[in-house]
Amino acid sequence: MKIPFLDLKANFKPLREEILAEITDVLDNTAYILGPKVAKFEEQFAAMHQVAYCAAVSSGTDANHLALWALGIGPGDEVIIPANTFVATAWGATLCGAMPVFVDCDPRTYNIDPTKIEAAITHRTKAIVAVHLYGQPADMDALRAIANKHRIALVEDAAQAHNATYNGKPIGGLGDICSFSFYPGKNLGAYGEGGAVTTNNPDLARKVRMIREHGSEKKYYHEMYGTNYRMEAIQGAVLGVKVGHLNDWTENRRRVASRYNAGLKNVDGIVLPFEAANVKHVYHLYVIQTEDRDALAQYLNDKGVSTGLHYPVPLHLQQCFAHLGYKKGDFPVSEQLGEECLSLPMFPEMTDEQIEYVISSVVSFFEEQKSANPAKVESAVI
Ligand SMILES: *Cc1c(COP(=O)(O)O)cnc(C)c1O
Repeated sequence: MKIPFLDLKANFKPLREEILAEITDVLDNTAYILGPKVAKFEEQFAAMHQVAYCAAVSSGTDANHLALWALGIGPGDEVIIPANTFVATAWGATLCGAMPVFVDCDPRTYNIDPTKIEAAITHRTKAIVAVHLYGQPADMDALRAIANKHRIALVEDAAQAHNATYNGKPIGGLGDICSFSFYPGKNLGAYGEGGAVTTNNPDLARKVRMIREHGSEKKYYHEMYGTNYRMEAIQGAVLGVKVGHLNDWTENRRRVASRYNAGLKNVDGIVLPFEAANVKHVYHLYVIQTEDRDALAQYLNDKGVSTGLHYPVPLHLQQCFAHLGYKKGDFPVSEQLGEECLSLPMFPEMTDEQIEYVISSVVSFFEEQKSANPAKVESAVI
């Protein structure tokens, strides 16, 4: 049996007619950039996340940059960023000319560890970027308390967490400003590049819209520096259809996760995802941890099960940040995760048969290991 890591064809098939009609509408009306379909999607997306303003943009990476740009972050500033995340989280700060300052993650949630942030704050620190990693909201109450105490901004990177909630409230309006990605493989994906910035702050919302449009509100009058970070109309049309299905897809991701949890909970040698009591995790990724990561990945691959690594090298050990002077050992939790994480197939359309096949493949790997190496098991017991 072949199990893909995600199945975008299965996702497109039931939406095909509706999406083609919407795209055709864009082509017929020739408003190819922003326009009414993007505006309507922005309204739907803001309402879903109970946030006042949403600006659709050209990618999640651009949204990261735009969020920090609108906050006025620039050269000489420092921005706190988790070491365990996708590199794009750090581009927001670097593209503004600021310096990323990395912080280790919590060993259970894998999100930034609030207890380690204050040691990294200096008089230059201007913001904390909280990533809701793998679909689980970061510890926003603790982060808000730190941000308020030091009078710095709190930014959410929700690229992996559309529709997630924290204390019953949707993410997206919990910090001062938030970025989303609609990369095709995300929980809500466009058919190309796409992203969004959300905020409850009217001043920031106005700046985001201006920067997205060459620093202007009125055509050819440029109030501030800006760029072109506009969303294409075709992506807005696609997202306008897809956003109506996001609740169902989220529930299906949670169904897959709970089946995985039930099927794998008695397997010795793996750590399953932890879901904090006050959040709704939306399982962009289902990440397990095991010392036998590479062997398990190979075994699953041989059985036809595709897996992923999120992320094998924490940001502080990336070559592009070598000049910042971090070294191995600085962030042990992120480093261990880099060596031991393995993402199992996760997509809303997964059938029970596919889920069971992944579970039985993981179980048989550990059973075969036990029988091949009983001494190891005995010494582990002692
Ligand atoms: C995907 C992702 C981004 C970047 O989004 P793009 O749309 O691919 O540019 C940023 N941050 C995180 C955490 C992501 O997972």
